[in-house]
Amino acid sequence: MSKKKDMDSIVSLCKRRGFLFQSSEIYGGLNGFWDYGPLGVELKRNVKDAWWRDMVTSHDEFREYPGAPQTFHMVGLDSSIVMHPQIWKCSGHYDLFHDMMVDCKLSKKRYRYDQLKGRWVTCPGKTASAQQVERVFVTSGAEDPTPDIEARAAKLFGLRNKEADRLVWDGGVQSLGTVEPSQFASVLAPDVDSLGTFTEPREFNLMMKTILGAMGTEDDAAFLRPETAQGIFVNFKNVVDSTRVKVPFGICQVGKSFRNEITPRNFTFRSREFEQMELEFFCHPGESAQWYQYWRDRRMKWYTNLGLSGERLQLREHHQDELSHYSCGTSDIEYAFPFLDAGEFGELEGIAHRGDFDLRSHSEGKLDPKTRPLEVEKDADGNPKWRGSGKDLSYFDDQTRERFIPHVIEPSAGADRGTLAFICEAYDEDEAPDEDGKAQTRTVMRFHPRIAPVKAAVFPLIKKEGMPDIALGVYRELKEAGLNVQYNQQGAIGRRYRQQDEIGTPYCITIDGDTISQKTVTLRDRDSLAQERIPLDKVTEEIQRRLKG
Ligand code: ATP
Repeated sequence: MSKKKDMDSIVSLCKRRGFLFQSSEIYGGLNGFWDYGPLGVELKRNVKDAWWRDMVTSHDEFREYPGAPQTFHMVGLDSSIVMHPQIWKCSGHYDLFHDMMVDCKLSKKRYRYDQLKGRWVTCPGKTASAQQVERVFVTSGAEDPTPDIEARAAKLFGLRNKEADRLVWDGGVQSLGTVEPSQFASVLAPDVDSLGTFTEPREFNLMMKTILGAMGTEDDAAFLRPETAQGIFVNFKNVVDSTRVKVPFGICQVGKSFRNEITPRNFTFRSREFEQMELEFFCHPGESAQWYQYWRDRRMKWYTNLGLSGERLQLREHHQDELSHYSCGTSDIEYAFPFLDAGEFGELEGIAHRGDFDLRSHSEGKLDPKTRPLEVEKDADGNPKWRGSGKDLSYFDDQTRERFIPHVIEPSAGADRGTLAFICEAYDEDEAPDEDGKAQTRTVMRFHPRIAPVKAAVFPLIKKEGMPDIALGVYRELKEAGLNVQYNQQGAIGRRYRQQDEIGTPYCITIDGDTISQKTVTLRDRDSLAQERIPLDKVTEEIQRRLKG
């Protein structure tokens, strides 16, 4: 199956079965925004619940976790989306949270400098366009850029399709970011026919602005948070003062974040509104390197435990020059999404060693001296406009009598990207026998049972002999146990199984003639297709046991 078809099938299943819809679809949609349908909301909630359970609810502060330097506390938080604008100045987002973009002067479209794809090409004996350029960088804004680049290059050099083999390619497809602005005269932008239409790359701040209150002036401007993390840092002292936590400990938060992405794309992968699952882990500076290792490894295991396969998942340590302005070490957990080229991976989660940057900045109002010191703007009265909170955000260890600013390890995961990775991983087509034993292609979502949106489906084989009543009883018992289950009595049983396979329901329970005579039901497994008989009065217990396993 081709890469394109693969992703198309996944996107189409998501819409057909109610996982994901384009936001505001009946009005033509809104780029970069998505709605989760009845199944999608269950799936994403299960992903977030699995994270929260692992991090907070089931965390045991007395337990020794393998690889962790010592026992530790974990607590949760839910901070507001709009916060004091000064927070974004001290966090560095106001000055530094931007992407480089280029504008096309002809098409009036805007692109991310580092994301637009293109390829260098020449055509011996020919020059491109009226400008007589010999070597050209041809770009494409298409999701699958390669065929588009080839067609556009042929057209640019005035070749017919069958002459395309006269083109000489110089290197593979690469980002426009590898092309110096001084070479832009040789670049063909998407959707235009002339060369050299790009402007110089410019900074574009990704924070979404809003206005508070009725006056509506620039002084009332605030920002929707671009990450949940800052809400945690500014509550560090509140949490220490109001709970029994001691360093080392973590504060977890799940919630919406907003970024004005220049080119939202690849389904939900790059959206303008998305959800994050973030942990800020506060530890002693002397132990932070060990904690960084610990959280990297533990977070990687979380994804594999929920079914992401080893070969499509990787942990990548950043090079020194890739590190954020505050970071002493960062690694990404990445997944080979089907919409990417072979060998390419997309980030699911970043695990960053942030040192004491955040707590220190919120206290003193300084950015990391290694990069850019805070420019202190003055207000009308000559007072510094952007200062730190002035609050002491250090920590006093009453055992060692030491005062220090904790270091922070931050595993920051995207709930939507994680959910999309689980969807892509789960999608499969195989051959399974129908009722007559004939092999038929079936679409099956192989979700890990713990995140599957529907845990089980209950069917009466036929609509008589009391079967529907028994099936409804089983359905209700499962519901009362808190499981999301479905009941269906319509259509051939094979068809009902296929419908459940397509949404990833791990177990189907069928009430049939033997249920009445022997008090047993058929339990069918989505993956092995095995059908076993289990006692009618043990159905809920058995499903719960399997979901735990
Ligand atoms: P990218 O380089 O892909 O833009 P990032 O490095 O800026 O991502 P972080 O700031 O580390 O991302 O955010 C943490 C996580 O939040 C990411 O790993 C990702 O899962 C999620 N995330 C960030 N931006 C988006 C977005 N625009 N849409 C969906 N999820 C996002």
